[in-house]
Amino acid sequence: MHDVIIVGAGPAGMTAALYLLRASRSVLLIECETFGGQITYSPRVENYPGYSEISGNEFGDKLFDQICSLGAEYEFARVTSIRDNGATKTVFTEDGEYEAYSVIIATGSKHRRLGIENEENYIGNGVSYCAICDGAFYKGKSVAVVGGGSTAVTDALYLAGYCEKVYLIHRRDSFRAEPSIVERLKKKENVELLLDSTVSDLIGNPDGILCGVIVDNKANGRYPLMIEGLFVAVGMEPQNRPFDSIINLDSDGYADSFEDCRTRTPGVFVAGDCRKKSLRQLTTAVSDGSVAASAAGEYLDNLI
Ligand code: NAP
Repeated sequence: MHDVIIVGAGPAGMTAALYLLRASRSVLLIECETFGGQITYSPRVENYPGYSEISGNEFGDKLFDQICSLGAEYEFARVTSIRDNGATKTVFTEDGEYEAYSVIIATGSKHRRLGIENEENYIGNGVSYCAICDGAFYKGKSVAVVGGGSTAVTDALYLAGYCEKVYLIHRRDSFRAEPSIVERLKKKENVELLLDSTVSDLIGNPDGILCGVIVDNKANGRYPLMIEGLFVAVGMEPQNRPFDSIINLDSDGYADSFEDCRTRTPGVFVAGDCRKKSLRQLTTAVSDGSVAASAAGEYLDNLI
């Protein structure tokens, strides 16, 4: 029996662990992929206060070392569901089950992939899913954004301020994005819209760095487009489905929660990118982690 089980060991989950361990609570972290979470895909983080530059991997490693030195226990397993027993919670994984008085869900949200062969190999080597995080590395270069939603259009507008040329590749000829931002984008001289088009292949140089893509246009077929950065903005997939019986999800699958990260189930909290909120960044993830830990601590004080 642990005081708190934290599902997901990204920045939100590990920050929650840090705060709980420092408050002398016993913590079990359960992670199914990478300790460090999505931030490990960012080669350079330059917007985390106190660090002018740190790699996402290094940030994740430092946080992991910090919580291990405080006595965090962890398991590598995929959580399939959580049962609310009232005063205790049972966390089921593919390999077994664990008990705690409280659970913090910090499973994050994954950027939807294009589903192209080798896409994963180019992450951090020319393929990015976050223009705000990585856009500045492409100053003066040619890049492309894929998608037709508000994120893709906002990303293209943002990149147009840095990059020599920005292509927006969208699979249809009309946009899901807010019309006002599409109009703003169309006025940018260094932006070109490639509509009715998809990216069907990635082209790399001998060092494995992206140097172009193959664009597939409905009318004109396939052609190469030489770019140095590809920003994929085709939606997000919050990792909340295993928990939909104990927390409320919005229509996009994000977890509904109160300001202090409480959910509708007493003793179950959510933190980080899996939560419904306006900004999903490293700073807001660690912020949620500390808030959820504090709320869980208060819950335990009243329970035990
Ligand atoms: P989104 O609205 O779901 O748009 C995803 C886009 O990606 C769609 O245009 C979709 O094409 C395209 N797409 C999906 N899968 C694809 C694939 N496999 N290959 C190629 N294209 C694919 O996602 P979002 O843009 O991230 O926005 C999410 C939410 O946040 C929305 O509610 C949005 O309004 C909001 N948001 C608001 C702002 C703002 O400034 N107000 C900024 C960002 C996001 P189809 O259109 O053909 O389906």
